[in-house]
Amino acid sequence: MKKKQKFPTDIKIGIIGGSGIYNIEAIKHVKEYDIITPFGKPSDKILVGELENKKVAFLPRHGRGHFISPTEINFRANIYALKLLGVEFLLSISACGSLKEEIKPRDFVLPDQIYDRTKFRIQTFFQGGIVCHISFSEPYCNNLRKLVYEYCKKLNITTHFGGTYVCIEGPQFSTKAESNVYRMLGFDIIGMTTLPEAKLAKEAEMCYVTIGIVTDYDVWKEGNEVTINEVISNLNANAENSKKLIKTIIKNLDITTRICECKDTLKNAIFTKKEKINKKTYKNLKLLIEKYI
Ligand SMILES: [Zn+2]
Repeated sequence: MKKKQKFPTDIKIGIIGGSGIYNIEAIKHVKEYDIITPFGKPSDKILVGELENKKVAFLPRHGRGHFISPTEINFRANIYALKLLGVEFLLSISACGSLKEEIKPRDFVLPDQIYDRTKFRIQTFFQGGIVCHISFSEPYCNNLRKLVYEYCKKLNITTHFGGTYVCIEGPQFSTKAESNVYRMLGFDIIGMTTLPEAKLAKEAEMCYVTIGIVTDYDVWKEGNEVTINEVISNLNANAENSKKLIKTIIKNLDITTRICECKDTLKNAIFTKKEKINKKTYKNLKLLIEKYI
């Protein structure tokens, strides 16, 4: 028989760290959990502890030591493991490139839209005999986005509120032709990791926000083509700012009530009749669906 896993289930705040953020030193009373989900293992052990007197869970998206490429991230296991811990509010940090002159390296962006250019990723928890169509017209939680913006301003971090994040497959950066097309389409930032993370967080009924940290001008700007050194130096410079921001947000986040629609995303979205769902699929998804079917 499989050993029952032991972990807390009352951790309402989750943080996913992107490139450059593999740890948040300010988290106290840390315990690490190696969680196995029906979708496999998350990127790494999840660190659980206290930040500003609130319980938080932290997961580095690429693993500690940055060994998982964007295509190979097990996004489903990451989100499911955080859901198992009880996460309702998820702050996701993503390094990204800028597609606009006015969005400068080291600025922060809180995108409100996404354009999907990924190719090899499983985009849903719902398969294997169950069909679910959630609304994805607003991919991020607007309440949480507004709160994050408020504290970016308070900390004097230059932040762009809104914008479209084009998510490419990678791991290579874009060609100039691609970068110019994205600019013509009016997109604002470019990265490799907000999808399917945002879709899965929504299916898991979490309030989710991406904090985009600009590291470069992608490749469209003549004489400013992305270099790895530049990306890394901007990432390091920004890591401290983003950790400060995370602390401030958590201090001021009210985790006792959720007034947005995120918590009811699956209501009326599951199309399959309960008697048609096989036992294994139901068991795997019970955590997400049992309040509805
Ligand atoms: Zn929400």
